[in-house]
Amino acid sequence: MEELLERLLEECRCYIQEGHVADYIPELSKSDPDAFGIYIINSDGRHTWAGDCRQSFTIQSIVKPILLLQALLDNGMEAVQRRVGMEATGKPFDAINSSDQALDSGHINPMVNMGAIVMCSLIKGGTYEERFQRLLSLTGKLAGEEEIGVDEAVYLSEKAHGSRNRALAYLLKSYGLLEGDVEEVLDCYFRACSIRVSCKALAHIGAVLANRGRIPLTNERIFPSALARYVNAILMTCGMYDGSGEFAVRVGVPAKSGVAGGIMAVAPTRMGIGIYSPALDEKGNSLAGIRLLEKLSQELYLSIF
Ligand code: GLN
Repeated sequence: MEELLERLLEECRCYIQEGHVADYIPELSKSDPDAFGIYIINSDGRHTWAGDCRQSFTIQSIVKPILLLQALLDNGMEAVQRRVGMEATGKPFDAINSSDQALDSGHINPMVNMGAIVMCSLIKGGTYEERFQRLLSLTGKLAGEEEIGVDEAVYLSEKAHGSRNRALAYLLKSYGLLEGDVEEVLDCYFRACSIRVSCKALAHIGAVLANRGRIPLTNERIFPSALARYVNAILMTCGMYDGSGEFAVRVGVPAKSGVAGGIMAVAPTRMGIGIYSPALDEKGNSLAGIRLLEKLSQELYLSIF
């Protein structure tokens, strides 16, 4: 398996030059475009890796399924569904008009920014700090890491260059779709995107989702299996933004990308996969990362279809 990963990594390295590191958040533009790594955790607890898989980077949008999980755990499925829909938007992650009609909660989903911002407002806790710490603790458990933290430089950069996300949040507020203090909810979103992870952490999150809520090997249950089904289904249809349809055909597993270059993929019942390659395609997905997943899926017959 190590040899397979090494070989696929080398075969896909050429695609790095076709992509571009995100620069709309200045801190992200400092990433090394040539970093490339993969980590896999099988449901039986086996770990395999290749390349720069221990390097850390910010989770960015890969926190969206975790925000969804936290909102589901705190409010239940029906309450969450009432607030944010489940349909693919076919639009970029930060699209302003997610539908041609007036803004309607049924026209957004938890994997685009508007939906994730609403998820931030649904986290329970007495104070904002308590709410964020609960999210951080769930992220740490899912990632299999006790020490998980926020990259302050990226967080401040996100916040200073977050006009688009601010606009999205205030638009939600004006339509009565967002409760609570808008700036506080936005702060939660910016901080959540700035949590530091590695390929190993992403593979662990994927493995728990693949294992329907249990940690491989220890079998400790973190969330009910019905929630894994919910999150994996949303990942399948919306996880790669407006590239989700093509990704379903080419790769065929639930997955989530982030603009720092991470991808977390879930092969249900089989494995969790974490990939890092910061050069992105025009949709904001890791370009070489998707190629690598496509080849891996062909080699190991991972497609669920
Ligand atoms: N922080 C990023 C943003 O909202 C996350 C986006 C992403 O990873 N696609 O702009």
